[in-house]
Amino acid sequence: MLSKLHLPCSAAEAVDLLRLGGWVIGGGTVVMPKVNTGAVPVEHLISLRHAGLAGIRVAGRTVTIGAATTLAELGAHDELRFLHPVISSIASPPVRNLATVGGNLLVPQPHGDLAVALLALDARIDVLSVDGTRTIPVDAPVARHEIVTQVHFGLPNGQWRYRKAMRRKHNSASIVTVAAVLGDDTRIALGGVAPRPIRARAAERILAAEPGAAEAAAEAAREGIEPFDDAYASAWYRTRVLPVHVRRALLGED
Ligand SMILES: Cc1cc2nc3c(=O)[nH]c(=O)nc-3n(C[C@H](O)[C@H](O)[C@H](O)COP(=O)(O)OP(=O)(O)OC[C@H]3O[C@@H](n4cnc5c(N)ncnc54)[C@H](O)[C@@H]3O)c2cc1C
Repeated sequence: MLSKLHLPCSAAEAVDLLRLGGWVIGGGTVVMPKVNTGAVPVEHLISLRHAGLAGIRVAGRTVTIGAATTLAELGAHDELRFLHPVISSIASPPVRNLATVGGNLLVPQPHGDLAVALLALDARIDVLSVDGTRTIPVDAPVARHEIVTQVHFGLPNGQWRYRKAMRRKHNSASIVTVAAVLGDDTRIALGGVAPRPIRARAAERILAAEPGAAEAAAEAAREGIEPFDDAYASAWYRTRVLPVHVRRALLGED
């Protein structure tokens, strides 16, 4: 049963509190329903709200976003307009006012649309534990005794593409999400088709050899996926529609 909500004033204090075996929360949009329904027994919750981890910095072409920054704050940032379609595809305004960037990185698919976009952007994250800070790729595992403090990436050098297939405009998780940076070093990331966001590496290889081969690349995007059934779509449907959305993303079609 929940006995205490901690509000540490720094990331170091938050990490120290993890020794109690508690659960970190950003906005709590995923954790709190589980706690409230007793689905996950947890004694200590460690909120990052006052830990000094919010904020967005754009220096030249380098972007740094604090893990406790809300999706609403990110979605309102003038210099990061290319991410606005990503943010507006996530949940709904009330959820985005609470939901954080750090939380979005760690939720299982079919949630985690921003995590898909950050994988396409080749983002890195800083994670802190009592042993210090390490910087890892955005899709690398984060241990239970670590917290994500910030995410950083370069503004896209090529063309930015984002598509999310969903049942309705608000509060509808991904059927298929596609994010891509097209150019000399094309990167395509997929959501909704595996437990975590994945790269469409076979598709990337095809485009590296023949940049115009959108159709073949879209078909190849099925390689390595591990689709699942849920309330939004079946694994069969996700597999079937994935190439359609990849092709449309590559061609910049609506
Ligand atoms: C109705 C509804 C609709 C939704 N629709 C979407 C959607 O369309 N797309 C989408 O992507 N998501 C969706 N979500 C999921 C969720 O709101 C977002 O993914 C959100 O960004 C999660 O952030 P949070 O801060 O609320 O996470 P929390 O619930 O606070 O945490 C989620 C997980 O991340 C961990 N965590 C949080 N911050 C950190 C940190 N800094 N370091 C280490 N661990 C951390 C927590 O321990 C927990 O395991 C939806 C949720 C709801 C309730």
